[in-house]
Amino acid sequence: MGINEVRELLSSRTGPKTLSFDGSAGGPNTEEIVAALAYVPQGLGRELLQALWWPESGQRRREQLRQAVVALVAPEFTRQMHALADARTQFGIAKASMGWCGGVVTDAQRRELRRAEQALEDARVGAWPNNTMEQLGALAGAVIAEMAGSCECPRCGGRKVVRNGAVAGGGSCEHCGGSGFEPLSGRKRAGAIGADWSAYSRFWRTVYEWMLANFRAEESRAARQFSKVLTQAA
Ligand SMILES: [Zn+2]
Repeated sequence: MGINEVRELLSSRTGPKTLSFDGSAGGPNTEEIVAALAYVPQGLGRELLQALWWPESGQRRREQLRQAVVALVAPEFTRQMHALADARTQFGIAKASMGWCGGVVTDAQRRELRRAEQALEDARVGAWPNNTMEQLGALAGAVIAEMAGSCECPRCGGRKVVRNGAVAGGGSCEHCGGSGFEPLSGRKRAGAIGADWSAYSRFWRTVYEWMLANFRAEESRAARQFSKVLTQAA
């Protein structure tokens, strides 16, 4: 059973449609689905699987979903803050070391200052906004809503790659950034997180895209694990 089928199976158990997964008439009942879900390792992927495809069950697991989102995003935010603080410290040291205590400025010191300045700039460019943690709820809500409503990319048909004569096997689809899904416009994403478009594109885009890519990866992994459990049970 493919991962799209297990997603369908999860959502169909709330509707009249029953999906057969072992070739027999009918499919697993609710208890069997719940039992199979319990074998999917706990974490963000499993919470997303439920939030997206079985919202009634997801509703009861808001706290678990919150914790799983925090567990994914907070360490990356902390890592960036540390990297930025380290780069700032190194830059300060390099500056202070130029002709330290009246000595002559050497070429090595100049090179080190340029290197430290560039490293600080790189860390700044890559860092998420300072108030990312305060906005985490709004960001997660918007990312999950985009996942729930996303359609196949019209350019690559969800295959993530496009045929390209120059590249063997095709190149990564630029339209969807290789995700296979039609991306929402920056304007829509901005609206969803309560920011304007320029704030989105200047500050929030990197964290939004990071969260979307990682949420998708976690959800797909959980869907594959769920599919494996159901296949073994059949
Ligand atoms: Zn595409």
